[in-house]
Amino acid sequence: MLLASIGAMGSTDHGDALQVLQRVFGYPEFRGDQAAIVEHVIAGGDALVLMPTGGGKSLCYQVPALVRPGTGVVISPLIALMQDQVDALRALGVRAGFLNSSLSWDERREVEAQFVDGKLDLLYLAPERLTSEATLRLLDQGEIALFAIDEAHCVSQWGHDFRPDYLSLTHLHERWPKVPRIALTATATEATRKEILTRLELSDGRQFVSSFDRPNIQYRIVAKKEPKKQLLDLLRGEHPGDAGIVYCLSRASVEKTAEFLVANGIEALPYHAGLDSSVRQRNQARFLREDGLVMVATIAFGMGIDKPDVRFVAHLDLPKSVEGYYQETGRAGRDGLPSTAWLAYGLSDVVQQRKMIESSEGDLAFRRRSQAHLDAMLALCETITCRRTMLLDYFSQTGVPCGNCDTCLIPPESWDGTVAAQKVLSTVWRLRNERGQKFGAGQIIDILLGRKTAKVIQFDHDRLSTFGVGEDLNESEWRGVVRQLLAQGFLAVEGEYSTLVLTPTSSEVLSRKREVKMRKDPTPTRSATRVAAASAAKPKVDLPAEAAPLFEALREWRAQQAREQSVPAYVIFHDATLKSIAASRPGSLTALGAVSGVGQAKLTKYGEQILEVVAGGGPAPAEQDTPPAPKPKSKTTSTGGAAWGSGGADEWPEPEEPDEPMDW
Ligand code: ADP
Ligand code: ZN
Repeated sequence: MLLASIGAMGSTDHGDALQVLQRVFGYPEFRGDQAAIVEHVIAGGDALVLMPTGGGKSLCYQVPALVRPGTGVVISPLIALMQDQVDALRALGVRAGFLNSSLSWDERREVEAQFVDGKLDLLYLAPERLTSEATLRLLDQGEIALFAIDEAHCVSQWGHDFRPDYLSLTHLHERWPKVPRIALTATATEATRKEILTRLELSDGRQFVSSFDRPNIQYRIVAKKEPKKQLLDLLRGEHPGDAGIVYCLSRASVEKTAEFLVANGIEALPYHAGLDSSVRQRNQARFLREDGLVMVATIAFGMGIDKPDVRFVAHLDLPKSVEGYYQETGRAGRDGLPSTAWLAYGLSDVVQQRKMIESSEGDLAFRRRSQAHLDAMLALCETITCRRTMLLDYFSQTGVPCGNCDTCLIPPESWDGTVAAQKVLSTVWRLRNERGQKFGAGQIIDILLGRKTAKVIQFDHDRLSTFGVGEDLNESEWRGVVRQLLAQGFLAVEGEYSTLVLTPTSSEVLSRKREVKMRKDPTPTRSATRVAAASAAKPKVDLPAEAAPLFEALREWRAQQAREQSVPAYVIFHDATLKSIAASRPGSLTALGAVSGVGQAKLTKYGEQILEVVAGGGPAPAEQDTPPAPKPKSKTTSTGGAAWGSGGADEWPEPEEPDEPMDW
């Protein structure tokens, strides 16, 4: 497709931002801080924009790029998604292009010529391009409306997504001091924010910090028992036919989990850095284009994925930081409809993460930083207060108990775990001198429960004074105690076999100088049912029942269009727009043009077709008495009998190689 033009829009000197919003994007008004940001950048000011995923960051630079003379240059690490981003803009009639390593020589020359000739409204660039003198010289030859630095947290070494190429962005300001720069991110703690400001030399710019709350996402963190079965229950019980992402730590567990889901009749695809790049691309494209697929992935997947209707994000392993967790879960529900963020967490996660940090090759500062990130994540898992309040607090924002997280829905109890802690710690202390022998949580718990296992007898552990003193709690409760001692830093792991060892604070507990408060994990089945019931009570779809058949007809029309043009369905129209059309049944082009999300270019291109679907599609509300069309069924049939392994999750973890974030 050649670049469509929206006429004079790209070259208007003092266009009206609101008019651009309405004409090009089809939205009646700006949201939240958007108007202020757009106005500030149009006037030539620098800005740092912090907005949660789905908040509407793209418009903050796209509108000024269309209003100011010249091309808006967007720096984004998301090479694999640039094509989709540009397709989406072209569908709106915006003259957009990109330069990255995927282009052929001819394609590259064409985009470069368009830029130099002033024929582009927006140009997307990978950050590493800016390290090349050739690109800098190219940029000198055209007129630049602004620089947008997307995913700006990538410049921060404190953050979780550092990209060395982002450091070169400092030079933009030196070379083009008059061009406004707008840095945008959905994830930034105080520390990360400060680092962005200094590294990008943005301190003189204005900061726009929106609320980070994502009220439509329900946060849940459950005790890990049989994680795959728990996951299956979640998908079958609450999200049948929904699109979602399942995050796993390692490549091996991604593959196993995807196979497991497929064997159980759920259409799932794997994604990790070890897969061939063509397979990765294909799976990503299918996830974006098809309805209701589940992506099982490492954190290599997801940055910049702007699929609006991801209904759940499930974590089968503990994320390394709250920032990572928030960004990953933030990929759910960008369309504002109810969505679930679900994490299964257990003793093995704490051991594994502590051990990974301990054995990492990073320097002391790196290990300290990782430890601090992990401690914050563990505190979130073990909290008995509102998860959302705690998340917001992590981003220096305040919130009130939300009523839409597991701890609000079923407040967990806390108990005085001091005596239990002492039993564990003194057993660990008694084992410390067993020369050359390493014992993990399993042996400690066997001793406390008075079990005469072969290993207990072999080492005479039945003679220890703590043998059998823990019969007041069961095995799973003891695992919870050990987990919380690790989470709170009263125990540590050491060495290849994850031996449990005491820490400097252990003695305070042993000598009764310190109390240990613990969380009582709710019984998994009971709590899962209750939270699920609470979620089911909320309407999943904001659509009147009588409009459902027309919505389905419009979705079918959209799927056909998406296939023909090989673009993701949401590039044609978002669900929210189709829902408004289904609900309002416009009878004329003027009425259709008034629907939010229908801009001029799309009205011209699809208007007549949509009116036909509305006229002929679903039955008129009065005559309609059929139930709403069911969601598309999963295409894969169950082979049944796929087991989730005998011992469950909380066996001692296998050492696994975690995958790294990766987008190119
Ligand atoms: P972010 O980049 O912050 O995650 P996006 O820019 O992708 O968010 O916007 C999220 C969704 O909100 C998109 O579907 C976008 O079209 C929609 N949106 C953004 N601004 C507005 C607005 N002013 N009115 C209506 N919808 C909007
Ligand atoms: Zn809450």
